[in-house]
Amino acid sequence: MERGKRTRPRSASRLKGESTRAVSISHRGIFCNRTLNLRSIAAIGYDMDYTLVHYDIHQWERRAYEYLQQKLVDQGWPLSDLRFDPTAVVRGLIIDTELGNILKANRFGYVKRARHGTVPMNLTVQRELYGRIIIDLSESRWVFLNTLFSLSEACMYSQLVELLDRGKLATVLGYDDLYDVIRTSLDETHVDGILKTEIIADPERFVELDPDVPLTLLDQRHAGKKLLLITNSEWAYTQAMMEYAFDRYLPGDMVWRDLFDLIIVSARKPDFFSSTHPFFEVTNDEGLLRPVVGGPIAGRTYLGGNATAVEKHLGVSGDGILYIGDHLFSDVHVTKNLLRWRTGLIVRELEGEISATEGFYEQQHRLTRLMDEKERLEQEHSEVRLMLQRKRLGYGPQPGENVKEMESRLAGLRSGLRALDQEISPLADASGKVSNDRWGLLMRAGNDKSHMARQVERHADIYMSRVSNMMSSTPFAYFRSPKGSLPHDP
Ligand code: IMP
Ligand code: MG
Repeated sequence: MERGKRTRPRSASRLKGESTRAVSISHRGIFCNRTLNLRSIAAIGYDMDYTLVHYDIHQWERRAYEYLQQKLVDQGWPLSDLRFDPTAVVRGLIIDTELGNILKANRFGYVKRARHGTVPMNLTVQRELYGRIIIDLSESRWVFLNTLFSLSEACMYSQLVELLDRGKLATVLGYDDLYDVIRTSLDETHVDGILKTEIIADPERFVELDPDVPLTLLDQRHAGKKLLLITNSEWAYTQAMMEYAFDRYLPGDMVWRDLFDLIIVSARKPDFFSSTHPFFEVTNDEGLLRPVVGGPIAGRTYLGGNATAVEKHLGVSGDGILYIGDHLFSDVHVTKNLLRWRTGLIVRELEGEISATEGFYEQQHRLTRLMDEKERLEQEHSEVRLMLQRKRLGYGPQPGENVKEMESRLAGLRSGLRALDQEISPLADASGKVSNDRWGLLMRAGNDKSHMARQVERHADIYMSRVSNMMSSTPFAYFRSPKGSLPHDP
């Protein structure tokens, strides 16, 4: 499509009240898993939804949920009273479609927290069901919540498990069938256009503006990077969202399309990265298509296509391309596994998580001190027990204390440990509720990393809360991964 000038909706300068929230550096950092030198990156590809354009989750996911709900009500399901609960689930959880449970697992795939639908699972039941299971996401039983778009579906699923258990969903054959129906209906909600038409008509309600995102891309383009937009969204929606979120902040007559070397809509990721799907050129604002002979041409907009042709067009492959998106599977896992592109993940939730962690700092400090003390008492308790055992059985080096003295020391240590546990318990409980009452922190499962953290670490070279975090690091940055810690480190 020819790049025309477009009417700017509002002033090109930063609008009042729209500057980004003042947050400390740590909230807006670039976090590095694998060393990445931006100077050796020739092209940066971007996803659009929840990457270049961020939505108010409460608004977007609530409307998606409500359209989904309406579809199910139209099928005769008794759901009119249900309401979207944005805190019910978080990204990175796993749906067990066989048993109707929502799970949080640690980095090894062991289940650390579980709910049957919305109801917390008792620890004994949890151990019975999952004690011998290691979650393998390649099995169809498990559904990993990859993106913020998953929240409406998972919230609905958790609520409907209860209705299914109460026999209120007569046509549903089981928990897996329930998941399939919800999946298909939400899929239709995204595709059939009514929800998107509502968003296009009222973007103020749905889109959270960030003036620094267009500036970040401008910096990168002027620094010689080729920029690509590769989105699964349709042309009309992409055009509307990008115009709303970008054009007002671009200099002079520049429009969002001028930033990109290639624009690819309806890309069908993750297949885009492995398929040989053809390109169609989008020839006008109405989205008129024409087939493409040969490869894509710089400055044009396409529908469909494939990553191999993009590499050929750029004359760059593998580690010369950085792709940034919010979908853990489609945007970073597949890209890294199949093409060895460098990858960046957008995790908007990080800002809230880091704030919540900072807010818990003093309690965490106290908890750590108490746990250190507990470890010390436990070690002493074990040593006294061993000495007592040797004394009673008359082997090994014999302690100076007699049996009675040792027994009384053991009793003292046990009562000290009980008192400590009483202090530790509420703090440990509170630490499991940081950021989200039901699920705690996204990236943590107790003291360990969560399954989400493990996915991020495996597939995303870098991660950040939003694209504009790259502005302060500049297009010339060299991100170095921290020296990972090991349990035996001195
Ligand atoms: P991207 O993140 O820019 O690649 O675009 C995501 C697009 O996928 C948006 O247009 C979403 O509406 C759409 N989408 C998200 N979830 C689903 C789904 O479950 N089915 C179909 N489309 C979806
Ligand atoms: Mg996205």
